[in-house]
Amino acid sequence: MPQPVGECGWSGCGAPARVEVLVSVPGEPPGLALRVGGYCVGHAVIVGIDAQARYGGGLWYAAPLLNRARGGPAGRN
Ligand SMILES: [Zn+2]
Repeated sequence: MPQPVGECGWSGCGAPARVEVLVSVPGEPPGLALRVGGYCVGHAVIVGIDAQARYGGGLWYAAPLLNRARGGPAGRN
């Protein structure tokens, strides 16, 4: 069975988590970025701003695994 994307991590939201929020910690390599969690687009922005304020590092968003798999090499069936 394919792994579901999951729900937004915002309490009471229930929307599909379409974005993963990650934040890097200042002074640490980017590979050690903290995975804040998966959220819907609207909450990802809110959580991202909050996480950046808390950690002070770089903030970025990533597509969840399901979307990443769907966006694989082009031109192949
Ligand atoms: Zn949400």
